[in-house]
Amino acid sequence: MTAPEPALSVVVPMFNEAAVLPLLAARLRGVLDGLGEAYEVVAVDDGSTDGTAAGLAALRAGWPELRVLRLRRNSGHQAALVAGLLRARGGYVVSIDADLQDPPEVIVEMLRRARADRLDVVYGVRADRSRDSRFKRWTAAGYYRLVRHLVGAQMPAQAGDFRLLSRAVVEALRALPERSPVLRLVVPWLGFASGEVAYERRERAAGRSKYPLSRMAGLAAESVTSFSAAPLRVATWLGLAGVALCGVLVVVAVLAWFAGATVTGWPSLYVAILFLGAVQLLCLGLLGEYVARIYTAVQGRPAYAVASDSADGEPARPDAAELADSLR
Ligand code: UDP
Ligand code: MG
Repeated sequence: MTAPEPALSVVVPMFNEAAVLPLLAARLRGVLDGLGEAYEVVAVDDGSTDGTAAGLAALRAGWPELRVLRLRRNSGHQAALVAGLLRARGGYVVSIDADLQDPPEVIVEMLRRARADRLDVVYGVRADRSRDSRFKRWTAAGYYRLVRHLVGAQMPAQAGDFRLLSRAVVEALRALPERSPVLRLVVPWLGFASGEVAYERRERAAGRSKYPLSRMAGLAAESVTSFSAAPLRVATWLGLAGVALCGVLVVVAVLAWFAGATVTGWPSLYVAILFLGAVQLLCLGLLGEYVARIYTAVQGRPAYAVASDSADGEPARPDAAELADSLR
C-alpha cells in the first residue's frame, strides 16, 4: 500500500442506495472534512444493480478521499461490512449505514471518546427508536435479549452496526478464522475496552429498507448457531422428556388394563407415536442446522469476492489473493 495511512476510515456498505447517495455524500463529507485530519471513505458497493456504481464513480471524481470497493455479487450487509473493515487503512474505522439512519455527525463524538478515554470500541447506541416501526422495535428487542444472553453483559443493548473500532480490533477480527462473523456479536466478544455514544436513530433518508423479515430472521439464526451449541442440548432434553412421557403412558396403559378398559388404549398409542415422531424430526432438524454450518465451513468458500478496489487501481486483485485474504 502506497497511500499514507489516514487517521480515520469510514466504511459504508451500500446495496442499491442510488437514491440516498447524494444526500449521504454531502453530509458525510461535510462532517469528515471538518475533522481536519486525513480520512478515507470506503464505500462497499454490495453488488448493486441500480445507479449506485455510477453514482460512486461520479462522486469519486470530485472527492479524492472516497474509495470504492465493489463486490462481485450481493453478499449481504454483514459480508459487505467485513469486506470494508478488513481493507480499511485508517487508525480508527467507523462503520455506518448508507441511509443516514445513523447521523454522520456522531462520528466526531465517537472519535473524541475513543481518544479521550483510550477506547478500542465505541458503540453507537440507539437512544430512541420511536421512528422505527413497532414491529421492527419488538423484533429488535427480542433479538438483543437473545444475543445478550449468548454473548454476555459486555454486549451493549441497542447497538447495531454503527460503531468505531481501533486498528487493534480490526487486526483481531482479521486474525479470526471465521469467514463471515456476525460483527455485532463478535466485536463485544473480543473484549476490548469499549464505550458508548447515544444517538437518535433517524428515518431512512431515501430508498427502501433492504432488511426484510427473512433477512432479520436469518441474522438471528446465524447469531444463535454461531455462538452457542445450546440448541443441540434442547434436542437432548426433548428426547429425555419424550422418554419420560412414554413411561407415564405405559403406567396409564397398565392401569387401564387392570381397570378392564383396554380398548380405549389406542389414543395413547397414537399420541406416543406422534410425539416421538415430532421429537425425532426436531432433533434431525437441529442436527441438520449444525451439519450445514460444518458443510459451508469445509467448503471454504469466501463470504465475499472483491471485484475491484479503487485504491488498487482498476483491475481486480487475483482471486487467489482474495481467498488467502479471507482465510487469514
Ligand atoms: N446493505 C448491504 N447489502 C445488503 C443489504 C443491505 O450492503 O444486501 C446495506 C444497506 O445499503 C445499508 C445497510 O446495509 O447501508 C443497512 O441496510 P438497511 O438500511 O436497508 O437496513 P435497515 O436499516 O432497514 O435495518
Ligand atoms: Mg437502514
